[in-house]
Amino acid sequence: MQVLIAEDDRASRRLLEKAVASLGYEVISVDDGLAAWNVLRQNDVRLVIADWEMPNMNGLSLCRRIRAGVLPRYVFVILLTSKTSREDIIEGLEAGADDYLTKPFNRAELSARLRTGLRVVELELELQAKNEILEDLNTRLERMALTDPLMEVGNRRGLYDTLDRLHGPTDNSDCGYSLIMVDVDHFKFYNDTYGHAAGDSALKNVSSAIKRCLRSNDGVFRYGGEEIVVYLPSADIDAASEVANRLCKAVSELGIPHTSSSTQVLTISCGVASRPRHSNEKQSWEDILSLADGALYEAKTAGRNRVAVA
Ligand code: GH3
Ligand code: MG
Ligand code: MG
Ligand code: MG
Repeated sequence: MQVLIAEDDRASRRLLEKAVASLGYEVISVDDGLAAWNVLRQNDVRLVIADWEMPNMNGLSLCRRIRAGVLPRYVFVILLTSKTSREDIIEGLEAGADDYLTKPFNRAELSARLRTGLRVVELELELQAKNEILEDLNTRLERMALTDPLMEVGNRRGLYDTLDRLHGPTDNSDCGYSLIMVDVDHFKFYNDTYGHAAGDSALKNVSSAIKRCLRSNDGVFRYGGEEIVVYLPSADIDAASEVANRLCKAVSELGIPHTSSSTQVLTISCGVASRPRHSNEKQSWEDILSLADGALYEAKTAGRNRVAVA
């Protein structure tokens, strides 16, 4: 563990350097407060012994600067002083010192105070490591809470979050977008014919094919069972129905056999709805979603494996 010594008196500094090194610490030493601050800014030093009276920046000012919160870690500060009055000690502690050591220092006392510092620093390091693990877990949980594990796309909660965030206020609606509601055709028959496991695997392939057709800032969400919603930012109805046609083509071209379908392969149907840019209509995203759902129903009744536009 490194210990930074800031002491302007040369003889006293030498004595301290020797004593601290003999206790097994690595020593960095400087002769004023400003130099100490520069070392702290550039190095991961966590233990400091600072003299009270120093040129450029005294020990108290150094303590205050350390406590100002710029450094990304806790630094344990032992103030070195010949002042021993109660008021002085209180002033030192209030400036942010953790502990103090009176001059001339006693080696055993120095050792004990440094060990106290070391305990605090080690606790802080442990806490930091645990926090990093927790943060990482949190990120993973957040992702899991918004993801569908089978299709490896967002889930319904993810869709709602996205629409809540991106729908934008109706009075300032530059936020045009389109939604495609996708549903696998005759999927109940597919399960009945090929079994549920084959059904799962087909759904995975369908969602992969859909993802391959889209750009990275488009959103794909499993809406429920074998239904997927695609979110296309700033796409108008024409662009969106073109994308939807591409999705239908890509899925049928997977060539997943489906003997009880007239096409003999697994297909999807799509319903498309848009929220126009600069629209003054007070439409909610629920309205757009419901329009897409209505269009999907039309695509189904018109024969499936096709796109209908709201
Ligand atoms: P349509 O063309 O009108 O959409 O007919 P469909 O049979 O696809 O419609 P329906 O909604 O009646 O059936 C959906 C089927 O999807 C029923 C359900 O068992 C199946 N399904 C939903 N989720 C899953 C899943 O995670 N895995 C599997 N294997 N099947 C699923
Ligand atoms: Mg001094
Ligand atoms: Mg369905
Ligand atoms: Mg279906």
